[in-house]
Amino acid sequence: MQTFQVLIIGSGFGGQCAAINLLKAGIDDFRLLERRDFFGGTGAKTPTLVPRSTCPRRSIRCPSRPTAGRKCSPNRPNCTTTPSTWWSTSACETIPTIAPDVEHLHVFQRTPHWVLPRADRAFGPFQRWLLGLKPAYKLLRWMIYWQFETRVIAFKYSKPAIRLVQQHALRFLKRQVPDPQLRQKLTPDYVIGCKRVIISSTLYPALGRSNVSLHSREQGIAAIDETGIVTRDGQHIDLDLIVWSTGYDATDGVISYPVTGKNGTQLKDFWARYPRAYLGTSLPDFPNLFIVTGPNTGIGHTSALFIIESQMNYILDCIRTLKEHGLRSIEVRPEAERTYTEMIHREMERTVWKSGGCHSWYQSKSGHVIAMFPGFSFSYHRLTRALKPADHILS
Ligand SMILES: Cc1cc2nc3c(=O)[nH]c(=O)nc-3n(C[C@H](O)[C@H](O)[C@H](O)COP(=O)(O)OP(=O)(O)OC[C@H]3O[C@@H](n4cnc5c(N)ncnc54)[C@H](O)[C@@H]3O)c2cc1C
Repeated sequence: MQTFQVLIIGSGFGGQCAAINLLKAGIDDFRLLERRDFFGGTGAKTPTLVPRSTCPRRSIRCPSRPTAGRKCSPNRPNCTTTPSTWWSTSACETIPTIAPDVEHLHVFQRTPHWVLPRADRAFGPFQRWLLGLKPAYKLLRWMIYWQFETRVIAFKYSKPAIRLVQQHALRFLKRQVPDPQLRQKLTPDYVIGCKRVIISSTLYPALGRSNVSLHSREQGIAAIDETGIVTRDGQHIDLDLIVWSTGYDATDGVISYPVTGKNGTQLKDFWARYPRAYLGTSLPDFPNLFIVTGPNTGIGHTSALFIIESQMNYILDCIRTLKEHGLRSIEVRPEAERTYTEMIHREMERTVWKSGGCHSWYQSKSGHVIAMFPGFSFSYHRLTRALKPADHILS
């Protein structure tokens, strides 16, 4: 049997960041495992809806990976899922992309999302030259970081601030959707930010096209049959392709294989009520195990990489401490994990993710918000800056 000092499972941002940091710390005795046939995890797949395979009827593009066993046929719709473990995209990207190419697009919506305009623009030659200068680039990065951090004020600390953002979103909706009936279908009934806000300047115009129909919850899907969708109000819609954009489970059951800790402790049992971890990273009874992007490390307002890199501070500090003292095992104390998790959910009560009046993928079945860290990213960074030996059992 081969043995390694460190085993990294997964080659996504987390795995890559771990590998880079281990190498920086002078540790090269590790293996990085990847179950897929490509390297790079979620971030590696761009959201394109496929190469030009052909569907016989109507000029619609088929998915490159239709659901197993379903062939492109004149009397059976193909299915593809977005986002899923394969595609990192969602309806807001798919709808504007395919709407101009299909004869008719039917969009089935359970809950409308808040949408804000995308501020993308092309940089001119002077700006590109300027960004070639390291100080200018760093200044821009710094400005973007701090601008994004201010969003936490609205998400957590200030109801007037979140109301201002919501008014901005309502004005944007009014400007982009002149039809009052369609606008009504697209107006959410919860506070902006409670569900992930969609940043798109192309979604509303696509939904307003004459070849696009938006079906609200009441006109939703009653059944899917061989040739299309039967709606709750009794229509049968004949379709060539169904794109599943119904989201993913980011909270319950995120680790699909058994993980056994000390004395046979099972991770699934420890997480039976809801997923939890000290700094979203380590668990009592699971020595030397670190979870990257674990419970309550998600971030809606800035880059996930900032959080992953902060987790690395803590993980590398644990590894360094073991090596320096010639020890073999580090494990968080149960009371330290409990105190941390209680603090997280106490803080969460104040956030729009908990109190904004929606149900979202941020929440686990228990109702706890699991996918998000309830605060500024620099607060999380501060928590992970140095290992607290008193919170751990070293042996
Ligand atoms: C639609 C979408 C948009 C996003 N947009 C942004 C954004 O704009 N900015 C941002 O910062 N973040 C964004 N994120 C979040 C970001 O992608 C994640 O935070 C990041 O990918 C997490 O990295 P990870 O390494 O933990 O997981 P992943 O990147 O998902 O990698 C996990 C890897 O582990 C592998 N794996 C799983 N189980 C096993 C096993 N048993 N054995 C071996 N390998 C295994 C998987 O195949 C995968 O390659 C987005 C995510 C999604 C889904």
